[in-house]
Amino acid sequence: MARFGGLIFGLFALFLAASAEARQTVLLVSIDGFRADYLSRGLTPNLAALAAEGVNAPMRPAFPSLTFPNHYTLVTGLYPDHHGIVENTMSDPSLAHPHFTLSDHDANWDRAWWDEATPLWVTVQRQGGHAATMFWPGSEVDIQGVRPDHWLPYDQGMADSDRVGQVLAWLDLPAAERPSFVTLYFDKVDSAGHHQGPDSAGLNQALGQIDAAIGLLVQGLKQRGIEDKVDLIVVADHGMAALAPERTIYIDDIVSPADIQIVSSSAMMSLSAAPGAEARVEKALFAPQKHMVCRKKQDMPARFHYGTNPRIPPILCLADVGWVITTHDFAAHRHGSNVGTHGFDNQAPEMAALFIARGPDFRPGLKHAPFDNVDVYPLMAKLLGVAPEKNDGNLADVQDMLSR
Ligand code: AMP
Ligand code: ZN
Ligand code: ZN
Repeated sequence: MARFGGLIFGLFALFLAASAEARQTVLLVSIDGFRADYLSRGLTPNLAALAAEGVNAPMRPAFPSLTFPNHYTLVTGLYPDHHGIVENTMSDPSLAHPHFTLSDHDANWDRAWWDEATPLWVTVQRQGGHAATMFWPGSEVDIQGVRPDHWLPYDQGMADSDRVGQVLAWLDLPAAERPSFVTLYFDKVDSAGHHQGPDSAGLNQALGQIDAAIGLLVQGLKQRGIEDKVDLIVVADHGMAALAPERTIYIDDIVSPADIQIVSSSAMMSLSAAPGAEARVEKALFAPQKHMVCRKKQDMPARFHYGTNPRIPPILCLADVGWVITTHDFAAHRHGSNVGTHGFDNQAPEMAALFIARGPDFRPGLKHAPFDNVDVYPLMAKLLGVAPEKNDGNLADVQDMLSR
């Protein structure tokens, strides 16, 4: 009986080894703020080649069209309302680090903010595989007690070519250690979009720089003879819209600043009324406004999939595309103003994000219809051969991208 058990165990181990072998490598690259139509500027030959050899589509970000919410959506398949990273700036008095911002590592490395969802690298590792992250929001965090096998603390100063070199070095690891799921992140295109605008020479220069890094990556895969073993998925988290000083809404022209507590502001302002000021604030903000709509979180239209998470403040004001909501005080003290931003209605064409997928599992030369970024997660889980966590994506929407 013991020998029979040993045999079964041996067969099971063999099966596990074989399925680990069969696992596809998925390399998920994010070019922050790469609007879908930047691809047709003729400035990104390496990305254009990948698009021609694989699948290309405009991808709808999740709402709000911001960096942290959308990066976590891409690796969980959950809307921000369901994964808990509902904004780039959040407030939750019940947590040890109650104020979450992108620059405050103490807060944004606190797993309590992230534990509502399970990112794909955790799932891959729990199911016997390996994962590595060359930056990704959340990748520095011990989410549910697990960090990627390989990861680096976010450093905007790290050269793009070094980021590519690190990814290639991970793919050179011996088979037993090689990650099957790898992420890579570039920030330059987003920064140029904010500081110089989506139609600027600086933006176009950033496109060229990131395209060169993509070229290095593809060349590295070719040199290793693994170009046809890696499913390369290049995405953006959102697009970019041009701003103008005259397209500014001052919330303190509508309500008294003493009557509100602002949690975040830009394309969308999230706020609560000061105790006792609720009726006054609601009367003022819920009246028709020019270039913005304010609503209670529970009154957001269903298509935003946004408003049930306790971390979302009670009132949300959403500006028209190209407008921002601020206060006179904040505007006066801001150092250097943005000429582009995102965070708007996720269905706006300006918010559409890049999606290119090229590799052994993707159909060559397919122009796909627009789809939602929650679908990327079930697609990657299928390629990796892992059982996906419960998610908001729909594999059927993107299944036709696959060649096998
Ligand atoms: P956004 O304000 O939505 O445009 O966010 C973009 C910014 O997020 C970029 O300037 C990046 O430098 C920053 N960022 C990206 N990944 C991380 C990370 N893992 N940790 C901290 N900041 C990050
Ligand atoms: Zn972003
Ligand atoms: Zn940005």
